[in-house]
Amino acid sequence: MTAVTHRVIPIQPDAGKPAPRHIRRLMPVNQQRSLAGRYAGWVKMLSWLAFAWAFAGWLNDTWFYQFNTPLWLNRYTEYALILIFGLWRIWAEKNPYTRKRLLLLVGNVAVLWWAIPWLFPFIEPHVGYLAGLPAFPALHTPGTITFFLVLAAVFLFGRRVICGWNCPCVAIREVVGFPFRHNDHVPRGTWPWRLRHLKWLWFALYLGAMWAVTRPANNTTTAFLGFFGLMVGLPYFITFLLTPWIGNRGYCRFLCPYGATFGLLNQVGMFRIDHDAKTCIECGLCVKVCDMNIPVWQMGKSAGGRVKTTECMGCGRCITECPTQSLAFHDVRNTIFPRLDQNRPFLRARNDWSRPLVRLRAAGYLLVLGITLAGAWYYSAQVGTLNELPARMGALCGLPVLSW
Ligand code: SF4
Ligand code: SF4
Ligand code: SF4
Repeated sequence: MTAVTHRVIPIQPDAGKPAPRHIRRLMPVNQQRSLAGRYAGWVKMLSWLAFAWAFAGWLNDTWFYQFNTPLWLNRYTEYALILIFGLWRIWAEKNPYTRKRLLLLVGNVAVLWWAIPWLFPFIEPHVGYLAGLPAFPALHTPGTITFFLVLAAVFLFGRRVICGWNCPCVAIREVVGFPFRHNDHVPRGTWPWRLRHLKWLWFALYLGAMWAVTRPANNTTTAFLGFFGLMVGLPYFITFLLTPWIGNRGYCRFLCPYGATFGLLNQVGMFRIDHDAKTCIECGLCVKVCDMNIPVWQMGKSAGGRVKTTECMGCGRCITECPTQSLAFHDVRNTIFPRLDQNRPFLRARNDWSRPLVRLRAAGYLLVLGITLAGAWYYSAQVGTLNELPARMGALCGLPVLSW
């Protein structure tokens, strides 16, 4: 019997030199659109100031309480900036798939993270003790129903359902921090790739927090949850200010405990990126456009065509920009429909805004958002005050909910 040996490709991201001319000729005309360009100094300064403003809003809402924490200086300031810069980014984006992703990202943040929790505040059912009142939907709060639903969705569709398409962190870094996507600002190479393991320290803290929320409230659990909140919130905003040096995904790449959790589900779940080594010309473009610094083609080649990593947030940039269509999304839909081809032309064609079907889908999405808002309005009016709600929700859902 002949032994089959596989050539092992060293997994080292290489932003490297531009692809040779004969390879560049193969690339789609508009492939440069997803490659980050260089921006003028004043654009970068504007971007950095917007980051600093969002940080100041959080600080004011958390500690200083100046000016009665108005919208221009509270925790929602970040979301307002996402909406303002997001409209500019959606307008300026030329890649149809990325434009659609930005539209959903900004829409989700504006409605699910901002409008509903702010305008129609009510508490959703949750298990265990929670340090603060969780709003609805509480996408990052362990113990809430939304969080369990998010975990299930990540298992089926990968981390992109939350990280790639539905997180304020990525939203603000995509729309405000875009001038810092260029490789001048993004640390790449072996050491930054290894630094991704740092986030497991935060993940350990997160496990502690998950344990604490299941305990009865006491001084220890309250102090620990407060410490955990600080360890998440403070680095989140400090990395805004460090964006020119650590790139616009510094927090997601190195520190986020939620990203680590969702990343684990990436590993055990049904999401991956398929890589076809036969057609891949090793141009390295997939690595250059990846904000998470994932060595896409090297990983695919050394792992038998499967790019399965905790890091991938499913933005799809590598897939849409691969000149030879050697990459494709793979998730639960491929299990149900094995012949489904989620490859690059599919992504581009499906998201061409000149097609009536695409516009119809966008209108349908807006309709669902509108119904969600109206439902939230009605529901928050029905359930009455926040103090009454836990008991009502507990009775409604039969869940162990703490009464305040
Ligand atoms: S890694 Fe964390 S901060 Fe980044 S998008 Fe995912 S959940 Fe949000
Ligand atoms: S997968 Fe595509 S983009 Fe990546 S190296 Fe191969 S041909 Fe280039
Ligand atoms: S591997 Fe591809 S889909 Fe995943 S984060 Fe990188 S560019 Fe986005």
